[in-house]
Amino acid sequence: MLIDGKQIASEIRSEIRDETTQWVSEGNRPPYLAVVLVGDDPASASYVRGKARACQECGIGSDTIALDSSTSEKELLDLISKLNTDSEVDGILVQLPLPSQIDDQKVISAIDPSKDVDGFHPVNIGNVVLGRPGFTPATPAGIMELLRRSGVEISGKNAVVLGRSNIVGKPVLNLLLQKGTDATVTICHSRTRNLPDVVRNADIIIAAIGRAHFVTKDMVKPGAVVIDVGINRIDDDSRERGYRLVGDVDFDNVVSVASKITPVPGGVGPMTIAMLLRNTLDAARRKA
Ligand code: NDP
Repeated sequence: MLIDGKQIASEIRSEIRDETTQWVSEGNRPPYLAVVLVGDDPASASYVRGKARACQECGIGSDTIALDSSTSEKELLDLISKLNTDSEVDGILVQLPLPSQIDDQKVISAIDPSKDVDGFHPVNIGNVVLGRPGFTPATPAGIMELLRRSGVEISGKNAVVLGRSNIVGKPVLNLLLQKGTDATVTICHSRTRNLPDVVRNADIIIAAIGRAHFVTKDMVKPGAVVIDVGINRIDDDSRERGYRLVGDVDFDNVVSVASKITPVPGGVGPMTIAMLLRNTLDAARRKA
């Protein structure tokens, strides 16, 4: 069975739109997200446009502050400091990656944790580890929501996460492990030995390594649930742009053994934006 992330994300956006309308009808101003884009990376610009469109669709205010690629770390930190103290701003998102003269971690740590709707601030990551309320990073939150809304039983199951990044692998590991969610979790990375054997033991596979078609049919236990986070470009002359996007999973073959599987595109990707909107609405509510 296909887990349709596009459809589920659309349902979540519609719920957020209704909640935002209700929030405003109670006399509150609409939630507001400030998006900061540094430089002219086309992929980042496209992600930011997608986020702005989704905000508009849900009644959430948003502006993109576009800064030149030569922006200094200090200039960016000064801007963050202004946004932190601006009472009209509920959420701050700095689109990553940043140009090399700027230290990502320093910038993320400068965002007020109560406005850190990307959930990357050490305080919010700490809250995820401790199972306390805070902002959960959008992609891991989207993965958990896909599992829940698809009726996947997680408690006591063996979950294997491929990839140990700070933005996907590590938060997902912690969310799956949470009391009440109760998976038994293994995390794999580039130094893992006998990785295919580890993955074969999984009831739930979360693939987030950025290697096209890495998870093959022989690695997947029949009936396993497969969530594909990867977004990889592969050459495709039949497409006007010369490439297409594929996941970390060899979807065409794995689909016949998995009980549930997400496609790429149309799986985890749309959920990431939906969860960002959810965090922005929550930020406005918590502030009030
Ligand atoms: P990173 O590059 O930060 O991390 C990749 C991880 O995969 C690392 O832990 C690395 O191991 C591991 N890895 C790489 N190659 C192998 C290998 N051959 N065998 C085992 N492990 C390996 O990636 P991200 O977490 O940022 O992103 C992962 C993928 O998810 C990318 O394709 C990205 O585009 C996509 N993504 C999608 C999002 C969405 O909204 N759908 C959002 C965010 C990311 P090690 O630590 O040892 O180097």
